[in-house]
This record gives sequence, C-alpha cells and structure tokens, in this order.
Amino acid sequence: MTSFRTLDDLGDLTGKVALVRVDLNLPMQDGAVTDDTRVRASAPTILELAAKGAKVLLLAHFGRPKGERVSTMSVSMTLDAVQAVLGKEVMFVPEVAGPVVAQAIGILRAGDIAMLENTRFWKGEEKNDPELARAIAENGDIYVNDAFSAAHRAHASTEGLAHLLPAYAGRSMEAELKALEAALGKPVRPVAAVVGGAKVSSKLDVLTHLVTQVDHLIIGGGMANTFLAAKGVDVGKSLCEHDLADTARGILAAAEKSGCTVHLPYDVVVAKEFAANPPSLRTCNVHEVAADEMILDVGSQAVEALADVLKTCRTLVWNGPLGAFETQPFDAATVALARSAAALSKEGALVSVAGGGDTVAALNHAGVAGDFSYISTAGGAFLEWMEGKELPGVKALETA
Ligand code: ADP
Ligand code: MG
Repeated sequence: MTSFRTLDDLGDLTGKVALVRVDLNLPMQDGAVTDDTRVRASAPTILELAAKGAKVLLLAHFGRPKGERVSTMSVSMTLDAVQAVLGKEVMFVPEVAGPVVAQAIGILRAGDIAMLENTRFWKGEEKNDPELARAIAENGDIYVNDAFSAAHRAHASTEGLAHLLPAYAGRSMEAELKALEAALGKPVRPVAAVVGGAKVSSKLDVLTHLVTQVDHLIIGGGMANTFLAAKGVDVGKSLCEHDLADTARGILAAAEKSGCTVHLPYDVVVAKEFAANPPSLRTCNVHEVAADEMILDVGSQAVEALADVLKTCRTLVWNGPLGAFETQPFDAATVALARSAAALSKEGALVSVAGGGDTVAALNHAGVAGDFSYISTAGGAFLEWMEGKELPGVKALETA
C-alpha cells in the first residue's frame, strides 16, 4: 500500500495550528442540518488534534457558490450541528486566509476549534490556485485531510495545501483508504463485486474496470436489463438502455477475457405498473417477461444462487441496489443478498465494502449497514475509486 502520514505520526501540537479539511457539505432542510453523519465521521480527527494541543481550523466547502460570497451558502449554517457533535464551542471565522484568520488564531487557546468560511467562496479553490493555497497555508503549521468524499477533486483545500505543509491523513480518511485497499487494492481472493442501480451509462467506467479486477461480477438493478437485452432477452417495458447493447456486449467480452464470471439474474420480479405491491406482480424466468411488463427486482432463485457465490468469496465490493428498493416489495433481493453478505462478514468469512448514496440507504433499510466491514459515505469519490482512478486528494498525501 502506498503510505501516508497519519495522526500517529504527530506528537504534542501545543502552539501549532492544524488546518483540517473536513466534509461539511451536509444535507439541510429549512436551515437545519438533517444528517450529521459526515461530522460524526471527522469528529475523532478533530478532537484528537485538539487533545494534542493544536488550534484546529476546519476547512470545508458548502454547496456550489462558484467563487462568490453567497450568504445562504455560508458554512456557518452547519455550526450548530458541528458544535453539537463535537460537544465543544467552535468559533466561526468568515475568511479562509489573511489577517482575520491570523487574529482568530491569536484568540484561540491550545485545543480550541474554529471553522473557516466556505472554501468555494474563493475562485481559487476549484481552480486549485497556488496563490490561494499559499495564503491559507500561511496561517497553518500542518495540514490534515479527513475528507475522502472530496478527494476526487484537485482543489486548493483538498490537494494544493498538501504540497505546502506537512500533510497527514485524518482518521476517517485513513479508515477509508485502508478499507478500499483491502477491497480492491490488494484483496484476498476470490473477489466479488455487486453493481446495481438504474443505468449502465452512469457506471460504465466502473463496470469496465471491475471486470479486470474481480472474479465475480454480479449485475443487478435496471442496468442488468441492458445486459439481458444485449444478449437477446426481451425485457418488455423495463428500464433499459438499448443503445448501449454494443457497450454491454463489449463489457461481457472483456470479462470473459480476464476470467471474470458475470452473473445476470435468471429469474426476475416483474409488474405491469411501477407501484407498491401492484396486482400484476409476479416472478418469472427472464425469458418469460411479457411485452407490457417491467423488471423491478432480481428473483429469489437468482438471489439464492448469488448468496452461494458470495460464500465462495473472501472479498466483496458493492455499489448499487439490485432492484427498485424504495418501493415494496422490490427491495427483497437487495435486502436478502445484503443480509447474506452481512452474515458472512460477521463470521469473518468475508471482507465487505459498500458505497454509494442509494446503496447506503438500501443497506440501512436492510438493517445490516453495521455488519459490513466498511461503508463508504463518499458518493463521487467512491465511484471514481471503483473506476480505478487515482484520486488527486489522496495522491497528494502519499509519501515517497
Ligand atoms: P447509488 O446511489 O448507490 O450509486 P444508483 O443511483 O446507481 O445507486 O441506483 C439506485 C437507483 O436504481 C434506485 O433509485 C433504484 O430504484 C434504481 N433501480 C434499481 N433497480 C431498478 C430497476 N430494475 N428498474 C428501475 N430502477 C431501478
Ligand atoms: Mg444514486
């Protein structure tokens, strides 16, 4: 594994200023934070640095203000939530660099925490402008990146700063990198991947990369329909990207070439209308889907076979639900396979890593998120990592 400095490499930080990139891009409703998961993820890092005596300055973006000061996008909207999670007072500083920040540092005592303004209020952030990075770095002694979810972007606060100050991976970043390394970097084989979700088009690069990396590729969700159709199966009025038939066949051919077994459902749950518990609901063989039916979930026989595949594997990486899980009973396959994976993980037979917005929601719905070895809450960064891309924010932390 490429190596990173972590908080273990830091001793007493009394008198030092730590610039810490965190993810405060929190979901809000009516001015209140509705989910503080991301704050809780970085709380150990923030509190550990404070306990070591550092003055901790939080850096984060919030929304898309595109280089302008937009008052409704001040990161201070998250201040109450952050203070609640940390159980400490956090000073808000409406700048990211310059004398106002320097003044704030003068007021802070060792172990105190401050939140700097939305990094994206400055045009240089998204351009990774070295001048902005230098101005921010001037007020700090060390840089800690704890925002894996923003690491797929080369911005001043996610990448540039790492070159200007001694740079460290925070605890959440460290855990994420270790889990991802165990899942696809140097995994214990055999490795299975579950890829589901609505469309092939949104996960083309993921599929293309995974067939070269894993032993079993389990395809579910709407995207399985595209593969089935490409193989000549009539999928009725299912969600299907018929224009991607050649692409799908290309992925299947690449899989065969690399010795990756692709698993497509052979029985499916269909209905004539997309609604909860529709009267037309039935399970059938994939070759028996009627012209007026749509595939909304993987069938129970296929799920049993997939659970048997997982039993032969030692590592699992999962992105995308197997069916339209938000609507009953099209959550059944996702819930059943997730429970199998969770049970194997709990026994220690499987290392399981899952990520993706809807995937995490589906695993929570199945009540098994806690039993997976690791759940990534990073959306775009997790997908780019599954595509085999090097993330600039991660690369910048690497030590020679
Ligand atoms: P993630 O956010 O975890 O990356 P995606 O956004 O790719 O996952 O896919 C999730 C969506 O795919 C869900 O909204 C789900 O309803 C939809 N989906 C899954 N299977 C089907 C299907 N057979 N037909 C239509 N939509 C589906
Ligand atoms: Mg999604």
